[in-house]
Amino acid sequence: MGLDGLLIPGGESTTISLLASKQKLFEPITTAIAQGLAVYGSCAGMIMLADRVLDGRVDRPSFGGIDIDVRRNAFGRQVDSFEAKLELPVLGGEPFPAVFIRAPWVERIGGGVEIIARLARQNDGDPAGRIVAVRQGRLLATSFHPELTGDRRIHEYFLRIVRGEV
Ligand code: GLN
Repeated sequence: MGLDGLLIPGGESTTISLLASKQKLFEPITTAIAQGLAVYGSCAGMIMLADRVLDGRVDRPSFGGIDIDVRRNAFGRQVDSFEAKLELPVLGGEPFPAVFIRAPWVERIGGGVEIIARLARQNDGDPAGRIVAVRQGRLLATSFHPELTGDRRIHEYFLRIVRGEV
């Protein structure tokens, strides 16, 4: 494909799946993932990188690659969007400001998957300890949108994966 890395942004995973098929990109992308392309998926992008999608549409498959079960819209509807500070040990330093918009969470991980971040309980009734960032080899996925704040550490971490430094 002539790519060093691929970023699958947030948006709507069913639409990304549909457009990838229509543009004949579904096969090339799944093949590139299987061959070790570095890919970062945020939010809908995380859903596209999940091997199994709960509450997904059977006619809108994910690319897969990361051995996780992901639940779409797990935190609720658009109005349930929120921001939280996350501890991300791989980044070091200050907690990361994470924006969740109709976000998925990870319900189960396979053996080769590294947990990068969990959501701490901020308020009573919050889903505590949900996994919201994972890595498997050269694939990275976050439930949240790091591009909506000025903090570039997630993108820098992905570039280090692309370059093979971490
Ligand atoms: N809920 C969307 C989906 O299912 C993801 C939302 C987002 O990317 N902010 O794809």
